[in-house]
Order: sequence, then structure tokens, then C-alpha cells
Amino acid sequence: MGTCDLCEEQVKKTRNGKPHECLTKIDEPRIFKGKKPRGFEEQDYLCLTCDSKFTQSTDKNDLAWTLWRG
Ligand SMILES: [Zn+2]
Repeated sequence: MGTCDLCEEQVKKTRNGKPHECLTKIDEPRIFKGKKPRGFEEQDYLCLTCDSKFTQSTDKNDLAWTLWRG
């Protein structure tokens, strides 16, 4: 199945962007404390519409929203 429109839009969102309405959290957030000056977190999401998986990261050096294309 292809990526739904909401997921296509989600990729463009910034670090402060909220997950769209069909994204549901999977697993607990992963917290990385080792990096300075502050740690960062990653959270995985799954789209209930198209089964796309996202990782949201608060790491400045990483994409805010990474879409894992199957
Ligand atoms: Zn989707």
C-alpha cells in the first residue's frame, strides 16, 4: 500500500510538528542522554491508515520526522 496523504505531509513537518491524527505511538520513547549539551529522544509512530512507520527525533542533527518506507 502507498503512503497516505497525511504521511506525505508529515515528512515535511518540523521538530515541533504534531503527529497527524492516524499516527499512533509504538513502543516507549528512546532517551539518549549521552549527547551534549542535552540528550535527545526518539519516538516511533505507526500510521493506522497506510502502515507507514515514522520516527520522531528531537536531535538537532537528525530529521525531525523520518518515514521508513517499506
Ligand atoms: Zn499514513
